[in-house]
Amino acid sequence: MEQSVEQSKSWFARAEAATPGGVNSPVRAFASVGGTPRFMVRAQGPHLWDADGHRYVDLVSSWGPMILGHAHPEVVRATQEAAASGLSFGTPTTGEVELAEELIRRVEPVEQVRLVNSGTEATMSAIRLARAFTGRSGVVKFAGCYHGHVDALLAQAGSGVATLGLPTSPGVTGAQASDTVVLPYNDIEAVKRYFADNPDSVAAVITEAAAGNMGALAPRDGFNAELREIAHAHGALLVMDEVMTGFRVSEAGWYGVDGVAGDLYTFGKVMSGGLPAAAFGGRADVMAKLAPSGPVYQAGTLAGNPVAVAAGLTTLRLADAEVYRTLDANAHRLGGLLSTALSAEGVEHTVSYAGNLLSVYFTDRPVHDYESAAASATWRYKPFFHALLDAGVYPPPSAFEAWFVNAAMDDAAFETIEAALPAAARAAAAAEKP
Ligand SMILES: *Cc1c(COP(=O)(O)O)cnc(C)c1O
Repeated sequence: MEQSVEQSKSWFARAEAATPGGVNSPVRAFASVGGTPRFMVRAQGPHLWDADGHRYVDLVSSWGPMILGHAHPEVVRATQEAAASGLSFGTPTTGEVELAEELIRRVEPVEQVRLVNSGTEATMSAIRLARAFTGRSGVVKFAGCYHGHVDALLAQAGSGVATLGLPTSPGVTGAQASDTVVLPYNDIEAVKRYFADNPDSVAAVITEAAAGNMGALAPRDGFNAELREIAHAHGALLVMDEVMTGFRVSEAGWYGVDGVAGDLYTFGKVMSGGLPAAAFGGRADVMAKLAPSGPVYQAGTLAGNPVAVAAGLTTLRLADAEVYRTLDANAHRLGGLLSTALSAEGVEHTVSYAGNLLSVYFTDRPVHDYESAAASATWRYKPFFHALLDAGVYPPPSAFEAWFVNAAMDDAAFETIEAALPAAARAAAAAEKP
């Protein structure tokens, strides 16, 4: 049954007057699924509560950070204690050293890190650093991989054989996008061809260590390893964007899954515990180029903020092997429920995993890149999503976003999901192609 969402509706009207589209990040506006975005007022464990008092099992987990579940008592206590000791000092602090050490301890190829405030800042800075280190300007990225809203990375492939990137957003100049080349994900031959034709111009290849922004899509066996080899053979750096996968899919992120070492890494989401914090890091010889030890300028007034650091560090300290086992088990339990319900209604689908990230593609053809993901029956997602939402389950509000489990999901949460799925699967089955 459709929920009454009068409070969310009224807040959305106020929000639309006060901010473009009523949201501070576009996906929250429900543009691709329609309907009223739910305005949340509280979260605890596996649940969110909206302004109308509805409770949801949260399958977004703040897009990743809340791996322990919401408002974990120890994370809240550490954050409150940090806040009570001062919100920001504008000086070096002891906590930021401990967080840096924790990141370095977990991901072997990372020898040094710099803390920043968002994943976007992390990738922007990593690209600048790679360009400075190599003395080159070219960047290779993959279609469907998202690296934040860095101008140079808001590029799409030119048509046909054109290799110059084109802006994906007004306001990004041709010059900013044209240093970026966009190739199909998982297509190592395309990478080889590009480097063969452009042997000395690429500063960095940037890739999501496993893709999570065109649905959850793992790299093909050997893809990351070959990227590394090809990049190094041509004097380019490999930037592993682990903003989504980092400290979520294993203790060491995707590096803990496939062991392919990047030269630079970007982190965010989980390492912040839900407050604004992110990082980039990697080889010490590359990081040494960064100011003040080197000439590459990079800075941040609130970088290493003590409250964010306390939330992140406490989250990471609590995220032990048992938590990762629980996340993996929860992802597969969820995927199993999704598949059972959709199969029962004869809906063609693939549950795709990248570690404990997962998503549903409405197709039974193999999905390996953005084009094959986009060719799925994405129009089935809207009614599927709303049926789940109305039954107290909050899936990502876009067919191309990953689903994020957390370790606080209990049997009752899974029972809510299981009870919601048959009607959602029927709605997906009944959806008509527009
Ligand atoms: C979320 C994300 C970013 C951007 O992080 P923000 O904190 O939103 O700027 C970058 N890369 C990947 C892989 C992400 O998932």
